[in-house]
Amino acid sequence: MLSPVTDTDGAPFWGYARQGELRVQACTPCGELRFPPRPCCPHCHSFESGWRRLCGHGRIWSYVVPHPPLLPDYAEQAPYNVVVVELVEAPRIRLVGNLVAEAGARLDSVPPERIRIGARVQVVFGADGLPQWVLERA
Ligand code: ZN
Repeated sequence: MLSPVTDTDGAPFWGYARQGELRVQACTPCGELRFPPRPCCPHCHSFESGWRRLCGHGRIWSYVVPHPPLLPDYAEQAPYNVVVVELVEAPRIRLVGNLVAEAGARLDSVPPERIRIGARVQVVFGADGLPQWVLERA
């Protein structure tokens, strides 16, 4: 089973994700959104921040289809994809994840030939709160 590994800064992200919410840190003084989670704003250097809920819409910025040798948990789901998603509400933030057919589906549930850079995607959450991506219906 592949599960998120959390740390102190990232724990709130995973807590919200388990509730089905995609949130990123928002600097209190300057409003800059940032990800991955970290204590200090890279823009104004403030340590004050909150967690902004996002709509979860994005576009595929890039992707790969990893080839063997793979770790055993991944090998059994190959061929699968790893996508880099640019968030609509925060284009400078890009999240790495998997494009799947529906929430909780296997990593190989979308054939690689269906993936296109620029495709519109929407975040969904697996049973363990892991953010995944599905293609938006046109
Ligand atoms: Zn700031």
